[in-house]
Amino acid sequence: MKYENDRYTLGGMDVHAICREFGTPLYVYDAAYIAGQVAHFKAAFSGVPARIKYACKACSNLAIIQLMRKLGTGLDTVSPAEIQLGLAAGFKPEEIVFTPNCVDFGEIEQAIETGTVINIESISSLQKFARKYGGAVPICIRLNPNISTQVNSDTVDWWHNQSKFGISRSQLDTVKELEADHDLKINGVHIHSSSVIMSPEIFTAGARTVFDIAAGFKYLEYVDFGGGIKVDVGDGSPVIDLPALGQTLENLYSDFCDRVGRRIEIWFEPGRYLIGNAGVLFAECTVIKKNEAVDFVGVDTGFNHLIRPMFYDAYHDIVNVSNPGGAKHTYTVVGNLCEIDNLGKERRLNQVREKDLIAIKSAGAYGYAMASSYNSRPRPAEVLVMDGQAHLIRRRETYADMIQQMVPLDL
Ligand SMILES: *Cc1c(COP(=O)(O)O)cnc(C)c1O
Repeated sequence: MKYENDRYTLGGMDVHAICREFGTPLYVYDAAYIAGQVAHFKAAFSGVPARIKYACKACSNLAIIQLMRKLGTGLDTVSPAEIQLGLAAGFKPEEIVFTPNCVDFGEIEQAIETGTVINIESISSLQKFARKYGGAVPICIRLNPNISTQVNSDTVDWWHNQSKFGISRSQLDTVKELEADHDLKINGVHIHSSSVIMSPEIFTAGARTVFDIAAGFKYLEYVDFGGGIKVDVGDGSPVIDLPALGQTLENLYSDFCDRVGRRIEIWFEPGRYLIGNAGVLFAECTVIKKNEAVDFVGVDTGFNHLIRPMFYDAYHDIVNVSNPGGAKHTYTVVGNLCEIDNLGKERRLNQVREKDLIAIKSAGAYGYAMASSYNSRPRPAEVLVMDGQAHLIRRRETYADMIQQMVPLDL
């Protein structure tokens, strides 16, 4: 979203016009912005043979997945339905990575039958896999990085093994035994870097460790660094310098290639980096309310549609797009659910009037994807702005949609 010629636009279109056409609350995504992020990502890692697998749990609308495919990414999936969406969007099975967590082995078997890239992240699944498939299907092993984010501490505990993700370092011997006994074809090593990617120092240390482990697998074809690259959401918290990270990785990578005597691919699974700042949740101010010292802006959405502020204490920049010239006031922006439902506390907004259009920014990732119909309020519609046109990519949920799945009793 941009402010140009005294008005707010998204993908070159007037935001009021979009919301008049489709109503509020409304998720709107900017295709050009997404394309820009894909291009930035590719440029940052142009020094290594990098592959991008869009982590579609961030925003799993079919049209967004189609767009990613058109932009040349692969796909990272975490459930059978996400694999189905990927196939529906035109991805070939081998372009899809399946990286689930703590799922029934049946889901892994299903993915193998489909032909996706398989990621194994527990000893239990690896044992089942080894017995059933042996070396017939190549697999990627997900390690538990658990790399502490405390850079300045002497007690950086790289592998504190508290998280449920991945296979811990202490179990690597078991992986090696299974590999030898069943002639497993381990061709990938994966860490979902998560907050690790916040700091180049930690990333460097983490990547070194991962390369060291990866060097021990004779069928190795790629190392997958997962996702977790943050974007600037406007709250002043630091974000990584991606080109600098790319340079760091290039150096580590060429050392690695020299050591093992061949070249492998480097995979990433960005979700929020590609789509986070490409999406805005638009809402209408329903009520202005003053309680004691607090000025509230009530809007026609809430944590049913954007759970991140309440669930993760996440910051989303909020803008009154209807009154750019209005005097700044401090408001707390709240949703319309019958429960504590803050979207932004003590924010400086241009004076808000009832019916003003309110933009909640950085809502592209984990926005609609985590939305519910709590309070029996339908989920919003989703719109993709592309080449100067607003495309409805999901219609607004209705009462009929909600009641359809219910089975009433004959009382
Ligand atoms: C969630 C997830 C991602 C994407 O994380 P972002 O923070 O959105 O980049 C990537 N890989 C895996 C395995 C994930 O579970």
